[in-house]
Parts: sequence; C-alpha cells; structure tokens
Amino acid sequence: MNTYDIAIVGAGVFGLSSAIKLAQSGANVVLIEKSKTGRGASGGILGAIMPHMPTRWNDKKSYQLSAHFSLPDWISEVEENTGHNTGYHRTGRVIPVPFDHMVKHSIERAEASLKIWDTENTGYAQQYHPKKYHSSWIRADRCIYGTMSDNLSARIDPRRYCTALTKMCIQLGVKIIDECEFISFKQEKILTRKNGETFNLAAAQLLLTAGYETFSLLKNMFKINIGLGIKGQGLRFRYNDHAQPQLPFILYDDGIYIVPHDDGTVAVGSSSEKNWTEPQTTDEICEELKKKAINLCPWLESRATEIERWGGVRPKCFEREPAIGQIPGYTNIYVSTGGFKISFGICHEIADYVSAMMQGKQNSRLSLPISFELDDHLKKMQ
Ligand SMILES: Cc1cc2nc3c(=O)[nH]c(=O)nc-3n(C[C@H](O)[C@H](O)[C@H](O)COP(=O)(O)OP(=O)(O)OC[C@H]3O[C@@H](n4cnc5c(N)ncnc54)[C@H](O)[C@@H]3O)c2cc1C
Repeated sequence: MNTYDIAIVGAGVFGLSSAIKLAQSGANVVLIEKSKTGRGASGGILGAIMPHMPTRWNDKKSYQLSAHFSLPDWISEVEENTGHNTGYHRTGRVIPVPFDHMVKHSIERAEASLKIWDTENTGYAQQYHPKKYHSSWIRADRCIYGTMSDNLSARIDPRRYCTALTKMCIQLGVKIIDECEFISFKQEKILTRKNGETFNLAAAQLLLTAGYETFSLLKNMFKINIGLGIKGQGLRFRYNDHAQPQLPFILYDDGIYIVPHDDGTVAVGSSSEKNWTEPQTTDEICEELKKKAINLCPWLESRATEIERWGGVRPKCFEREPAIGQIPGYTNIYVSTGGFKISFGICHEIADYVSAMMQGKQNSRLSLPISFELDDHLKKMQ
C-alpha cells in the first residue's frame, strides 16, 4: 500500500494550490480526484477577480484585498516554473451608473478607495466619472449618470490556470490519481474507488477540498452541515475579426460580468441557482444571460459569435465565508472549501495558510479572518 504524508481530496483550485504549497514545504502529497484535475467548478470560463467595494470594510474584504495584491507574484511563480501562460491580467473594471441614486454611492466608494486601497502607494483606485461614458462597448442609456471604474480588477483563464497548477504539482512530485473517488478515511487508511474497484492508500493527514461535494462528505463522515452548492451558468463568445479593437476592461452591470480574455474570447456570467438537479447542464437561464449581456454590450451580437455554454456548482457556506480548519475531535483531518465566487483571487493565500496549519506552523503570510475558521462556522450554526 502506498503511504503519503498528506492526502488531498479534490483537484480544483483549492486542492491544487494546497498541494503545491504543501509539497513546497517538503510534504509527500497525494491528490485524489474523482474526475480529472480542474474539471469541477474551477474548470469554467469566467475567471473574474474582483475586489470588494471599499466601503463597510471588514476582515474578509481586507484579506481578499491583500490576496489580490500578492496574486501577481504567485502567478509569476507558477508561470515561470511551468512555462504556462494563465491569461492573468489586471484589466480593470467599468460599471455603468444608470440611476441618480447610485451617484452618491459611487462618489463614496471612490473616496473610500483612496484610503482603503492605499492609492498613494499602490496606485489602485476606484473613480467616478460623472460625464456620460462615450464608448462603443456599453449601451449609452445605461450610463446616463456616468460610470465607475477601477484599475485593480483582473481576469485569469480558469482552465489555463488549472493546467498550470497541475503541471506545477507534477513538477513538485505530487502524486495525482485522477478518475479515483475518495470514499473514507480511518486510522490513516484511505479507501478509494477507481475503475469500479476499491483500493487503499495510507496518509498521516487528510485535507478535504472537494468543492461543493465537501459538504456531503462532512455530513456523512462527521454529521457537520455547513454549506451547499450554488449552480452557475455562463457562456463564451469569440471575436469575428481579431484585427478589430477588443473589449479593454471587465464590464459589470446588474449582476452580469462580461470578461475579456487574451485568446480572442469574451466570457459572460453568471447565474446563481439554489435549486438544481444537473450540475453541468445549461438551459434557458443561460439564454436569458445572453440576452442581458447583448443588451448591455450590443457589439457581442454584431462583432462576436457564441462558442460555448457552461454550467458548474460553486461551494457556498451558509455563513457565506470560506471554511478552513481542523475537524473538531480529529487531529489529522482538515477542510478547505467555500470559495464561492472569489476562489481565483484568494486560493493561493488560503493554500499558504492550509499548508502552515497542517504542518503545525504558526506563520502563514496572511492571518485568516476569524469568520473563515471552521470553528466559527460551527459556532454560528449552533
Ligand atoms: C458559472 C461560474 C462562474 C464562476 N466565476 C468565478 C469568477 O469569475 N471568479 C471566481 O473567483 N470564482 C468564480 N466561480 C467560483 C469558482 O469557480 C469556485 O469557487 C472554485 O472553482 C471552487 O474551487 P474548489 O477547488 O473549491 O472546487 P472545485 O473546482 O469544484 O473542485 C473540487 C473537486 O473535487 C472533486 N471531488 C468531489 N468529490 C470527490 C471525491 N469523493 N473524491 C475525489 N474527488 C472529489 C471534484 O471532482 C472536483 O474536481 C464561478 C463558478 C461558477 C460555477
């Protein structure tokens, strides 16, 4: 029977990043994935990395902001080590201001960003532009009261990111077993199923990063119920003529993101569905999304062609924040899930914390907000 220091269940961005950080600090890691790496929620198309609005500030928003600041260094490390481009770029974001009552909030946010984002030192800010935004990218009547913009928002290609993370895992000696389902863990023995047959592995510690399916594992194994899967749908367009100017920023309006990528495609997302039966299908909700996106940004219809629709399920804790920590009563079983809509911007820092936590070290780069701790979730659920 093969024996490892740490077994990780689930190879999405949470599991892959954690495997890298743990392997970098010397652990012998096995990553068990029931499908293929990066095919769960992490294998989508949108890849928007959005800072929270700089008002009503709290620890969670502060953690996410620090993670956004450290992300380019992490991406450089991954890209330099693997030679694989992830499509990461700080494009900035534009938000139309169609109503009078939004002006006051827009000005407050712009002012707050100067302090909270430390504009003087970082150069990042939100700005309110009261003049109508004369751009061919946005329908003019959505910008009656101008636009908001920021230069911190970024995008990444989720699939290329997962491919690069997988490659880095392999380089670091992480053993990846795909198409292999984790079933149970007892006294360091892991029962799995591959090709219809069960077999055992051994690991001193276990980390559950199985996305939304972590919640059913927690329920079945420990009678802990802390979250659910929220389905999302999105679609992708490709420019008809690559020589034409391309959408230069992320566009957000009324729940819809339009995200330009560097491969001549533009992604649109996403729905949020609590009630679903099929995790990966798309339906009329996606059609509605398309209509709304074209209404906001008419050139999607005139200068681009739809090439893909995609559905996936995000892990969302009842308390909204990610849940990270040791399972009470078990010294060697840990969980890290619940990235919901912000996973791509924070998973590298969460992984850094998980690695320190599992190896008994105090000092991860960022301290975890209390609201991210599994214990805090469990207390609030009582
Ligand atoms: C439509 C949509 C748009 C999104 N847009 C964005 C965005 O713009 N920006 C952003 O930051 N986030 C976005 N998200 C959210 C983001 O994709 C998720 O939060 C993130 O991918 C979750 O990563 P994860 O590693 O926790 O889970 P996953 O990527 O789902 O990985 C979990 C893995 O565990 C495996 N697994 C499950 N059970 C087992 C088992 N028993 N044995 C072995 N393996 C198992 C699964 O097969 C899966 O591969 C979006 C999500 C959706 C659905």
